[in-house]
Amino acid sequence: MSSVPSEAPVHITNFIRNLIDEDLRTDKWGARRDSVAIRTRFPPEPNGYLHIGHAKSICLNFGLARDYAGACHMRFDDTNPVTEDTEYVDSIMDSVRWLGFDWGPNLFYASNYFDRLYGFAELFIEHGSAYVDSLGAEEMRQHRGTLTEPGRDSPFRTRSVAQNLDLFRRMRAGEFADGAHVLRLKIDMQSPNINLRDPVIYRIRHAHHHRTGDTWCVYPMYDYTHCISDALENITHSICTLEFEDHRPLYDWVLNKLADFNALPRPLPQQYEFARLNLTFVVLSKRKLIELVEARHVDGWDDPRMPTLAGARRRGFTPEGFRLFAERIGVSKADSWIDMSILEDCMREDLNERCERRMAVLDPLRLVIDNYPADAEELCQAPNHPKKPELGTREVALTRELWIEREDFQENPPKGYFRLSPGAEVRLRYAYVVRCTGVERDAEGRVILVRCEFDPQTRSGTPGATARKVKGNIHWVSARHGGEVEVRLYERLFREAHPGAGDRNYLDDLNPQARRVISALVEPALLAAAAGEQTQFERHGYFVADAVDSRPGKPVFNRSVTLRDASDKPRG
Ligand code: ATP
Ligand code: MG
Repeated sequence: MSSVPSEAPVHITNFIRNLIDEDLRTDKWGARRDSVAIRTRFPPEPNGYLHIGHAKSICLNFGLARDYAGACHMRFDDTNPVTEDTEYVDSIMDSVRWLGFDWGPNLFYASNYFDRLYGFAELFIEHGSAYVDSLGAEEMRQHRGTLTEPGRDSPFRTRSVAQNLDLFRRMRAGEFADGAHVLRLKIDMQSPNINLRDPVIYRIRHAHHHRTGDTWCVYPMYDYTHCISDALENITHSICTLEFEDHRPLYDWVLNKLADFNALPRPLPQQYEFARLNLTFVVLSKRKLIELVEARHVDGWDDPRMPTLAGARRRGFTPEGFRLFAERIGVSKADSWIDMSILEDCMREDLNERCERRMAVLDPLRLVIDNYPADAEELCQAPNHPKKPELGTREVALTRELWIEREDFQENPPKGYFRLSPGAEVRLRYAYVVRCTGVERDAEGRVILVRCEFDPQTRSGTPGATARKVKGNIHWVSARHGGEVEVRLYERLFREAHPGAGDRNYLDDLNPQARRVISALVEPALLAAAAGEQTQFERHGYFVADAVDSRPGKPVFNRSVTLRDASDKPRG
């Protein structure tokens, strides 16, 4: 993706922005007499946690409201009592706020409109535009036709207004069992668009609703509820994903009828569709995410491997990184796949700016500086950020015995290896140049200790010392001062870019290496990390102190993202 600018401008224009510019130029919405120029909405159904795909929609809708002096409504589309829960409502609000957006006073629930929606349904009946159908589900399916065959009218389509009103009122009064009747709009069973073949707008559900309790036993369907909710809230731009394109004629039909009945004012809201986010190496379907949680393939909705916003947050992904990502991928009408590495790059860019640097050894090997006095120690000045001197420095104590990374020593180094090997020299970051003088092994012949000598003339930061050029520059942790911590190394949840493609089961594509738990040795400053604190472990990547499992003085670190893409060349 070399064509992607590294500094995304605040708004890259897109087709929706162009449409809004045009609407504003022609004062299309002027007759609404609203206090804000445009209104958008983000309408999740509270039946799961938000995922990375939702972040695209949130950034789009709230971003438009921000940039056009408009308002974005937070609306819970809670018409299905069986699958919805307040746990989801809370987590959704939490995630939207975390992403940096605020709906102000504009918090709504579709269930607040149940009375209005019911009243409008009676209005449709009174105008002969809706009828109670008593076909069974299977018969109704047969009457609906297919993409290539027109549907057939139900024998109940000709019921009188009086009969329909009576039956609908008795449905609402709880006289009938689930499935006995439904209310349908009377549009056109021959329409080439299946959505217009007399869609069901009410069904009987004797179920407890998380907000309206047992007040209702008939519940409105999504298509009917959504457009009316938009109109009642004075939404101008109702932006949804492409799969709703074929529903737009129904959206317009319902609202235009109600306007014709003088039940709604014009101008009416308009629906616009954009391509949903498809991201490689994850799944973004609520059904699959629920399955991952319930079948315990992950530890919960906020497991750092999950593509939920709660999981991404715990993983150490940032709101700024998500907003950058949303700007960078843009908005279009063409369905496409976005590579996970683009999201990871956005996180790296943000974390690189904000994170202080620390030293941590993930795969420790002992190093002894034989000519360094056993009791001595000296404080080396390490900058907290290489590009931000204003973030200051910290002191790290150098001692005779240190931990270094096992991969920073090789007995038989390949060509181009600039780190430690017998006889070779390397700089210990912020300290001295050392030369390897030998090794010690365990019974199996494995190297367990590297012996070195340091050159006192080479201390970092002292004039003249830098004249001594060595190519390798490795990090270390003092054996006397460092501490041990648990580190969780996260990778992508799936090992295939398109989990479940072909006839595979997506669960078979889970990456068993997506979490590896290790014990690492870290410089003392890291032991004080507060839950949620983010740091770069030099040469390793960005890490966050886990918000759930960290304890004071005993942080647990999650790797958010490595320093560079795994497909890039490994370092020398
Ligand atoms: P389901 O998985 O059950 O179809 P959903 O993902 O559409 O549900 P909703 O709660 O209805 O979940 O989504 C709320 C909003 O987020 C909708 O406006 C929807 O268009 C948008 N959205 C959902 N998934 C994506 C995605 N992958 N990319 C962009 N927007 C999305
Ligand atoms: Mg949906």
